Amino acid sequence: MSRYPSSVDVAIVGSGPTGAAYARILSEEAPEASIAMFEVGPTVSDPPGAHVKNIEDADRRAEAQRRSEGPGAGAATVNNPGAVTSGMRRARPGTYLLLEGYQAEGEDGLPVVAFSSNVGGMAAHWTAACPRPGGSERITFLPDMDELLDEADRLLGVTTDAFDSAPFTALVRERLAAAVDEGRVDQTKVQRMPLAVHRRDDGRLVWSGSDVVLGDVTRANANFSLFDESLVTRVIVVEGRATGVAVRDLRTGAAYEVAARFVVVAADALRTPQVLWASGVRPPALGRMLNDQAQVVYAARLRDVEPPAQDQVAASGALTEQSGVSWVPFTDDVPFHGQIMQLDASPVPLADDDPVIPGSIVGLGLFCAKDLQWDDRVEFSEDDQDFYGMPAMRIHYTLTERDHAVLDRARAQIVELAKAVGEPLGDRPFTMPLGASLHYQGTTRMGAADDGRSVCGPDSEVWGVAGLYVAGNNVIPTATACNPTLTSVALAVRGARRIAGELAYVGNRHYTAGTRTK
Ligand SMILES: Cc1cc2nc3c(=O)[nH]c(=O)nc-3n(C[C@H](O)[C@H](O)[C@H](O)COP(=O)(O)OP(=O)(O)OC[C@H]3O[C@@H](n4cnc5c(N)ncnc54)[C@H](O)[C@@H]3O)c2cc1C
Repeated sequence: MSRYPSSVDVAIVGSGPTGAAYARILSEEAPEASIAMFEVGPTVSDPPGAHVKNIEDADRRAEAQRRSEGPGAGAATVNNPGAVTSGMRRARPGTYLLLEGYQAEGEDGLPVVAFSSNVGGMAAHWTAACPRPGGSERITFLPDMDELLDEADRLLGVTTDAFDSAPFTALVRERLAAAVDEGRVDQTKVQRMPLAVHRRDDGRLVWSGSDVVLGDVTRANANFSLFDESLVTRVIVVEGRATGVAVRDLRTGAAYEVAARFVVVAADALRTPQVLWASGVRPPALGRMLNDQAQVVYAARLRDVEPPAQDQVAASGALTEQSGVSWVPFTDDVPFHGQIMQLDASPVPLADDDPVIPGSIVGLGLFCAKDLQWDDRVEFSEDDQDFYGMPAMRIHYTLTERDHAVLDRARAQIVELAKAVGEPLGDRPFTMPLGASLHYQGTTRMGAADDGRSVCGPDSEVWGVAGLYVAGNNVIPTATACNPTLTSVALAVRGARRIAGELAYVGNRHYTAGTRTK
């Protein structure tokens, strides 16, 4: 017996925050539309899609991470501070690496390109930094971008005060500001990092995952269903229109077809183009303009500070590995995005007789915007298959001279920032292996017009395939340096509103409400 319906109004492939944004907006704006969300990975948290950091028991949290790691489950992983100095080809907990095809001969490749396969996608494991894009990061042909970003803030539950009680955060910001704020406008001055995190009444931190994006309105929507352990093998396209999806139930191995009026593929930046490719939807820009944010990290220690009071340490969320995040925004003149986090452990070994004052270790990270190239791409094999039986991937990726020059500047800048904050830890900054940002973009990029350089239009509908939408960082056409999820959720809001409007316009016997918006 199939656990799937034979037909729905909207099929969503992938349960990360961008797929969840479609489900949420549709639940709000088209509550009578039937929605089926298919996720290849298992449900690892409760409510489904919740961030695993919210699981208090360490063993259960580790189990949830392991179950998210698909074919990599059981491989050694490396947590953030460790990653700084190890340089090993290891995945972060909850993610797994591409085992083959990550680097072609003579190219830089993306050696630590990674995925998560679980309900909630990578956002069950993320750091939740949600800065807004600025300058050339912004998508100039979307006039409503600021309103969409406001909506994305609402869906992700973004706050700026979750760590206000943490020790030394104001001091860290003050010191960073003294080093970089001169000549910057208010928007690009050093500030609190907007985070998809909030504090419960009892003081505990809650990290947003897809559960927060779905929200009670989606969970209460009787027309919404989430099917985990369900691989969408292709979108069914008939005469230039998406008409459904082919799904394999991984619990039984059985294959089904589910008819749908609209299909949204939100399967991450490498697997979204994979699903399109497997469906025979292969526009010239598919998989191209792939971009990752090269990342430089360093650490510093606040030396001239007194230990904070015990109650302040307790209130700062001592159970988390970070306690306070500051933001040095990207500008076109200084093309890096700075994420400065107070860590609970030093990324470099410290002497045993040198105890760490909580909040005094500061991890600095600068993400660089890529010099976009058409030939940076993910390709798919006609013959070889990946762990799930989908077309195998091969990455082509190289840094340009301009990328190297920006990286040189970032390495110099991060030393200045570390010195401004306190005493630098370690001899020199560390350049992370490419792919470590976990912010892959561009592979189904949005364009203002169908000029062969983009895969979808401003509403995320794939050019030439009516009813087929794409979602995720892969839709972002610009070279961002800032963490991209807020932006890709904003783009998903626009696409979802378009579908809600189209459903109202098309109408059916179940659906009468609403008006067409476009
Ligand atoms: C450790 C870590 C820290 C991060 N920190 C930040 C941060 O601070 N800020 C930020 O902006 N971003 C951060 N990210 C990245 C962020 O998590 C992603 O940008 C975000 O999750 C992307 O959302 P998505 O919905 O597009 O894709 P995902 O969250 O990757 O979800 C895609 C889902 O699709 C599923 N899927 C794939 N193929 C199929 C298929 N064929 N059939 C069915 N299902 C399929 C996958 O299993 C997955 O669950 C971080 C990521 C990690 C791992």
